[in-house]
Amino acid sequence: MDATFATGKELQKMDPVFGQLSFDDHEQIVFCNDKDTGLKAIIGIHNSVMGPALGGTRMWNYNTEWEALNDVLRLSRGMTYKSAITGLNIGGGKAVIIGDAKTQKTPELMRKFGEFVHSLSGRYITAEDVGMETKDMDTVRDVTPYVTGISEERGGSGNPSPITAYGVYLGMKAAAKSQFGSDVLDGKKVLVQGIGHVGEALVEYLTKEGAIVTIADINEEKLYEVAQKYNATIYSGEDLYTADVDIYAPCAMGATINDNTVNKIKAKVIAGAANNQLADENVHGPRLQERGILYAPDFLINAGGIINVYAELEHYGKAEIMSKTENIYNTTLEIIDYAMKNGMTTHKAALTIAQNRIDLRKIENAAKK
Ligand code: NAD
Repeated sequence: MDATFATGKELQKMDPVFGQLSFDDHEQIVFCNDKDTGLKAIIGIHNSVMGPALGGTRMWNYNTEWEALNDVLRLSRGMTYKSAITGLNIGGGKAVIIGDAKTQKTPELMRKFGEFVHSLSGRYITAEDVGMETKDMDTVRDVTPYVTGISEERGGSGNPSPITAYGVYLGMKAAAKSQFGSDVLDGKKVLVQGIGHVGEALVEYLTKEGAIVTIADINEEKLYEVAQKYNATIYSGEDLYTADVDIYAPCAMGATINDNTVNKIKAKVIAGAANNQLADENVHGPRLQERGILYAPDFLINAGGIINVYAELEHYGKAEIMSKTENIYNTTLEIIDYAMKNGMTTHKAALTIAQNRIDLRKIENAAKK
């Protein structure tokens, strides 16, 4: 999914883990295998300086195990920076389960996965990601307390996607304010790619405000349903990266901003929910900047979900979830400002501020010992 960074044979030439292109001094990588349930999973703990590593589990039918490893390395790193930029006292981790969530996910497999999570004694805390539902986290909760995103009936915070969509919407408005001089999205043409849990909720916010929304998805049934429900247009052109829109919102898979797309994009703002939208942040971030396209860093504006599940660990309620999520608007403006003043991309600016926080905490932690 987020694997266009390196693919196929190219991946296999590297050393298995520490030599991977996406390896970024990750603290721990755990390979989980269970013959009886068919579970094949990888848990990645990128950094635990700010606290235990929290991040969702993705179930995806990866073409190769190399792609799954690459994905968990990239996703877990993203979580470290997402939580640090959001001001949460947690580190970054993520898990991937190799397989088709529609046909291979069983309660037994989820329970077994939960047992592996439990074996890490809280160093990694899981939640849902693509291919997972709240009920799957409830199943994991049967065998370990190290899980968030469980149902409200069981004392959890429920589905994080609507909160994620709200944060993305606010981050998009902040980016629009900087790029177009106003955060009003009424009349703005927005392309939402991927209308799943987050994408559909984002379409609802956008159409309520009067934005002219075009949607794209590989799930045709869902496309017609969402188009009808919100009076959105289904994208019908040849190549959606050339769509004549003001704002592009990637809400499906990662790495959609890559060598093949970066020079075609007509939108002046990119703001969406997908993790790791830049295939190579050192190449595609600067290229967007050169082209005058304002990129709202994914890990900054899609933090609503982590804010929501973090509430389960810190025991705060809906009001605080909303106020922390609303803060995404101001943080986005601050990051854009920092990027302009320091002549760097918005992605680099967000990473720099997050890294500064982690470095400071490392010093504080060492002083306490
Ligand atoms: P989802 O699985 O509910 O929805 C993804 C949608 O994208 C599906 O409708 C799918 O059919 C579609 N899709 C897949 N491949 C596509 C393609 N090539 N072109 C067009 N559409 C395609 O997932 P979600 O929970 O809505 O998450 C969407 C993205 O946001 C993911 O990248 C996820 O990691 C990220 N994210 C989600 C949350 C959350 O709270 N759910 C939080 C942070 C980040």
